[in-house]
This record gives sequence, C-alpha cells and structure tokens, in this order.
Amino acid sequence: MLRIYPSLELGRIGLCFYNLEQGVGLISTRIRMMSSAPVRVRFAPSPTGQLHLGGLRTALYNYLFAKARGGSFILRIEDTDRSRFVPGATENLENILDWIGVKPDESPSKGGDYGPYFQSHRLDIYTKYVNQLIDGGHAYKCFCTERRLELLKREAARTRTSNIYDRRCLSLSEGQIKEKEESGVSYTVRFKLSSITEPVNDLVYGPVVHDVFQFEGDPIILKSDGFPTYHLANVIDDHLMGISHVLRGAEWQVSTPKHVLLYRAFGWNPPEFAHLPLILNQDGSKLSKRQDDLHILSLRENLYYPESILNFITLVGGGFEDKEYSLRNLFSMQELTTKFQLNRINSNSGKLEMERLGELNQVALRRRFDDPGERRVLIKSCRNLVIQAIPGVQDKFISDECIEKYLLWGLERIKTVKDLVNPDLLYLWTSPQTYETISLTKDTLSKIFEIYENSDDFKGFQKNLRSLCSILGLKFPVVMKDIRVLLTGRKEGPPLLEIIQILGREETLNRFKQYK
Ligand code: GLU
Repeated sequence: MLRIYPSLELGRIGLCFYNLEQGVGLISTRIRMMSSAPVRVRFAPSPTGQLHLGGLRTALYNYLFAKARGGSFILRIEDTDRSRFVPGATENLENILDWIGVKPDESPSKGGDYGPYFQSHRLDIYTKYVNQLIDGGHAYKCFCTERRLELLKREAARTRTSNIYDRRCLSLSEGQIKEKEESGVSYTVRFKLSSITEPVNDLVYGPVVHDVFQFEGDPIILKSDGFPTYHLANVIDDHLMGISHVLRGAEWQVSTPKHVLLYRAFGWNPPEFAHLPLILNQDGSKLSKRQDDLHILSLRENLYYPESILNFITLVGGGFEDKEYSLRNLFSMQELTTKFQLNRINSNSGKLEMERLGELNQVALRRRFDDPGERRVLIKSCRNLVIQAIPGVQDKFISDECIEKYLLWGLERIKTVKDLVNPDLLYLWTSPQTYETISLTKDTLSKIFEIYENSDDFKGFQKNLRSLCSILGLKFPVVMKDIRVLLTGRKEGPPLLEIIQILGREETLNRFKQYK
C-alpha cells in the first residue's frame, strides 16, 4: 500500500510512505549494523536568536533519548551562515539549556573529544572532505555567475518548470577549471545528486521515499566564501562526532535523502533518523521566532519554572507512555526520561495550548511552596519583584510573614509569582493611590468605618452593615463594591471577605482612615 504524505507543510514534494513489508532495500541504519555503538545525539541549532519552545522540544527529546540509553547529548552550533549570526546567541542558549536542565555532555563551552563544536571553527575539516568528494567525482566546482543563475531561475519561472541547475560546470575540462581558478574566478562547489529510490527509514514516520534527484538541482555544498552549506557540514559533523541518531524537526525531513546521498558518496553509514512533528500555534499557524512569549528566556523572566515548561512541551506531539494532559502529570526529568518512547511520537503536527503552561506552573508553584527550602527562595524572589515594581514599598508588606501569607492566598489564583505584582493585585503591596468612583457620601462611609471598628469579625460587620443599609435605604451590593474600591482602588476583584482577610484588620482600618 502506498500512502501519500498527508501534509503540504513539507512543500511541493510528494513524500511517499510505504508500509514496512514493502520496505525492500531500506536505507540501513547504524544501530542495526553496529548495535554496540554508543548512543550519541545532538541538538544543532543555528545561533540566530533566542531558544523557543520548538527548539527546546528538539533539544529535550534528544536529551531524553540519550539519557534513557546511557548515551551522550551534544550541542553543536551550526553557524556557517554568517549573515544570520547573532552575537551572544550561543552563550544565551547554553545558559538557558543549563537553567532548564537539558544539559549537554559536550558543547562549545564544555568542550569534549569531538570538538570544535562551532561549525565555523571546523572550516579546514570541510575543505578536506569537499576535496575528497571532488576527487571521487561526487562534487564539482561551479563558476556560474550570480547573473547566469538568476537567468536560469527566471527562465524556469517563465516556463513554469523547476529551477534545476543545468550542470553546465560539470562538463568543464581540467584545463578550463585550472584557467578559471588561476584568473581568480570565484566558485562554489556543487554535490552531484543521483537518484535515490529506496525508502529512508524514519523512526517516527516509517519508511519514506523521496527521490530528491527528480525535484532539485545539484546543491551547493561549499559557498564561494569557503563556508560549507548546512547539508555538507551537518553530514560531516554527524559522522565525525559519532552521532548515532538524528532527532530533528519534521521541516528537515525533505533534506534527509540528500544527506543519505552524501553519506553514500563518502562511503559512510548514515545514522538513524527520527523527525519530530511540527509544532503549531493553537490557531494552526506556524510558530514564528518573533513570538516573544514562546522564547524560553521570556518564560523564565516571567517566572515559569523549568519543570512546567518541560512538561508543557511534552504535551505536544506525544512520545510518552501515559502522558496525557493532567495536572497530576508534572513529571521530573528522571520520570520523563523513563517514560519517553520514540515510537509513541505522533506524526501529526501538534498545537500549543498556552493556557496549559499556566496551569502546570500553578502546580509547580504549589509544590515549591510546600517545600520549606523552596518556600524561602520563593519569598525572596517575590520580595525582589515587589521592591522593583513598587519603589518605596513599606517594610511591613515585604516581611517574610506577609509575603508568605500572600503567596499562600495566591496559590489558587496566580500562575506565576510575577502575577502577584500585576496591576490588579497591587493593592496587596500598597494602599490605593487612586480610586475608581465611590458613590457613597463621606458621611455614610464614616458610619461604615465605625461599624467595622466595632465589629468582632466579618460576619458581625456584614450583619451590622445590612442593618445600616436598610436604615439608610442603601443597596447592600453597592455598598460592598464601594468598600472594595476603598480598600483596593478598584471595583472588580476578589470577594470583600477575602480582601479583608488578606489585608488584615489593622491594614483594613488604615485604608479606611486614609480615605477619610
Ligand atoms: N541547523 C539546523 C537547525 O537550525 C539543524 C537541523 C538538523 O538538526 O539537522 O535546526
């Protein structure tokens, strides 16, 4: 049976899936051929900005896969596209991976036996292997000018055909090549594609057939500036770094046959491949690097915890035995490692439901609060936040006891500690600076204050307030609302009882007095 890949996300190319019985001549896998090979996986981002949830999922699944097998997780920086290089991005990436607990065993800062881990530091390696490909007849120098390539492109557009390089430079004689080189004509190196009709086994998608030769021209593998392109550097490094399994986003699936051809040209065994389903926004749109709320750094700054972010990301796309969305399922890294199973990853795209992140963080927050050591850390970080948000905050509001009381109250209503200093909860830390409209007269308010002062508890206060309302002909809910404005500055908010309880009797009286 032949199944056509159901998604158009992968572009114009029809990727075909064959069932396993039909998988004759499957591109073999390292593991089957070299079963004793240690598991080595890598996360290989380009340093073009902040790590976001999509990148983190790739890093995490690689990490879990390696750790469950006693293997190594490697961070390699694919920085050969210098035009997209963002200074500081690698340092930020290493810091954030460290913070979230997806710690590489080998990386640019950690080093390791297979370095350097920046591709830009490995240029001589690529040159050596490119020469090997040229000598073996698998690659050739291309002297075509940008202008000629542009004309080919336009012609393809005009005739509505694929823009496939016409291999003009493949037929240059040695003498012609020498002459061009001597006169300083700049060149790229192209890989000579060949047909690939056997399925490549994908540990998530099954056997996949995509004969790249039919759809693409010979790809440039070395640019005229001497830098390799992604395909070349990626294959050479995966091989030289002993990578056993490549787990990467499904957007790279179309590149895999090209990589397999490169492995063949070098005479190397390819690693196993597993492509992870795309992650989409809830509305089905693609994730964009510009979505700041998806950056791990911004989640960290908003005080989401590693455990909630990690568990959240595992909800998209499967991969776990009994991992359904449930607030009870906030697993530790150790638990995630044991539960992770590659064959449980879905091949359908997954959607991010951001509100679940908040719910998981609420659980994480409660767990931290329940631990005395963590609670102290929480109190401290909350104090710092308040001091920053409210310069001149009075000491009584940022005592350990007061913050602890607020935190306990907040556990049911906040998603992150930062929510405690949101504008709608500012009244916790300071008496109102401005008030929404209060309809009661000063005279009536004085009577209400008096009643409060003389009531033993909220019940008594409420009872006396009701009597006052019937004497003065006031509507009880309106009075309650006005008292809320008086204490918090706002009409909307938690029930008055809660506000009075959380502020305490003394502070409630202070605020009554302040309004007078
Ligand atoms: N540099 C590629 C990226 O940015 C790596 C893709 C791969 O894992 O092969 O995602």
